[in-house]
Amino acid sequence: MNVAVIGAGTMGNGIAQVFAMHQHAVTMIDISAEALRRGREAIGASLARLAKKGSLTAAQVDPILARVAVATLVSDAAGADLVVEAATERAELKFKIFAELDAACRPGVILASNTSSISITEIGARTRRPELVIGMHFMNPVPVMQLVEVIRGQATSDATTRTVMELATALGKTPVEVNDYPGFVANRVLMPMINEAIYCVMEGVATPEAVDTVMKLGMAHPMGPLMLADLIGLDTCLAIMEVLHRGLGDDKYRPCPLLRRMVAAGELGRKTGKGFYPY
Ligand code: NAD
Repeated sequence: MNVAVIGAGTMGNGIAQVFAMHQHAVTMIDISAEALRRGREAIGASLARLAKKGSLTAAQVDPILARVAVATLVSDAAGADLVVEAATERAELKFKIFAELDAACRPGVILASNTSSISITEIGARTRRPELVIGMHFMNPVPVMQLVEVIRGQATSDATTRTVMELATALGKTPVEVNDYPGFVANRVLMPMINEAIYCVMEGVATPEAVDTVMKLGMAHPMGPLMLADLIGLDTCLAIMEVLHRGLGDDKYRPCPLLRRMVAAGELGRKTGKGFYPY
């Protein structure tokens, strides 16, 4: 199958890699030539790690890389049998990309989005094929994580859902079907837990280390919620809490004032060298 992946960033290059590892020809499309270069480099480095671990043979690496072509225009997805969009998380940008994909791609081609929080129903409504628009929410790092959250918009058809569930399984992943409400399931459950952990710190209930230790040793989480928030990025956590708060209209989703304050100060976690922990 010919697969187009829109966006060559953290998620896009991981998604491209997983499709290429399963014999699909991939076109990775990004407006930034630098992002395409870094994306290919990241795939190469990830494949080299897998070869070192023995999950791949050295001889398999080059053919996989050779299956990943790059391009700079969304219309370069015209020949694709499936599109997975993993561009920057901005609603207006995704609406524009999906309108362009709808115009460029053959009728019948499924257009999937890896969005973490933007409504699949709203994205689908920007196309003339909302029955073929679906969420295919991979987790980071894509080659490692098992889950694909498959999100049905209001108009997504049973046939589209079935095809994407089967495809995710064929990629070695475990798909879970959910409906399109703010935050889907992954972030609807994860983010309020992170937000509550931040309230615990703000109210002086416990230090970040203590909160994380309680959740690691008491609940068997592999990583505490505050360390995870630093990994995700506190700006991303705040943006998702705002989607939940706005979309569900319930004050239980109110972003913690300490989260707002840290984001305002540029303390975004690992990517800026400081969050709940120093890096
Ligand atoms: P990123 O910033 O690493 O990459 C986004 C890429 O999109 C950039 O390279 C950018 O140049 C490109 N882009 C922007 N506009 C474009 C356009 N018009 N056409 C083509 N490419 C364009 O972001 P990311 O972390 O890879 O996130 C991508 C998507 O995946 C988002 O929707 C995000 O919510 C979702 N997501 C992210 C994570 C995560 O942990 N990072 C996890 C699950 C889902």
